[in-house]
Amino acid sequence: MPRTSDLTVFITSGDSRCDECREDLSRHAWIKLEGDHRALCLACADLDHLVFLPRGDAALTRRARKHSRLSAVVVKWSRARKRYERQGLLVEDDALATAEAESEADAATRAARRERAQVRRLELDQAYVARFAARIRELYPHCPADREIAIAEHACRKYSGRVGRTRAAQDLEQDAVRLAVIAHIRHAQTPYDDLLLQGWDRHEARAQVRDAVDAVLRDWAA
Ligand SMILES: [Zn+2]
Repeated sequence: MPRTSDLTVFITSGDSRCDECREDLSRHAWIKLEGDHRALCLACADLDHLVFLPRGDAALTRRARKHSRLSAVVVKWSRARKRYERQGLLVEDDALATAEAESEADAATRAARRERAQVRRLELDQAYVARFAARIRELYPHCPADREIAIAEHACRKYSGRVGRTRAAQDLEQDAVRLAVIAHIRHAQTPYDDLLLQGWDRHEARAQVRDAVDAVLRDWAA
């Protein structure tokens, strides 16, 4: 399977703003830098579907990276040491699950896995997930069963920590919900990720799958 080289995601020290969606990002936001010093939030950079694996387990990290088609090294500037330091890796959910299964034999890995699962659950604001899911079901009544929960959990995870929950997302405005659903459809039901991996520009790739995304949206809304 062809793979691009690892991307780098920076944890900012000060306040910043996404140069694409113009969203103000909180301190310690996670960003990707593009040409001309443009900073993109993880949602605009199409990396927000990846899960974070903190550094510390070299074998697990190696396996997760091997199984993930797309991965990003997360770094933070250390003022004391005057250099960027690796914090961990962003990988695909499935890749982490496979890597964990391969590492199962090891008791320490099992314990660490339980701990990570626990942390990820705690990250979620369950009341918000329930409200978000209900709103998806209301706007897209023909969305497959339980899919609204997966989309809502993802949106909640995204808006809670790394990106900062926007006003629109907080109020569950139709546009914010629609964007979350579109992002899900793009990754889950179109060849969008494959196009990116083949080196397509994000905007061209989005244009390429737009009709396919619209068709699914219409089916779910009808
Ligand atoms: Zn953005």
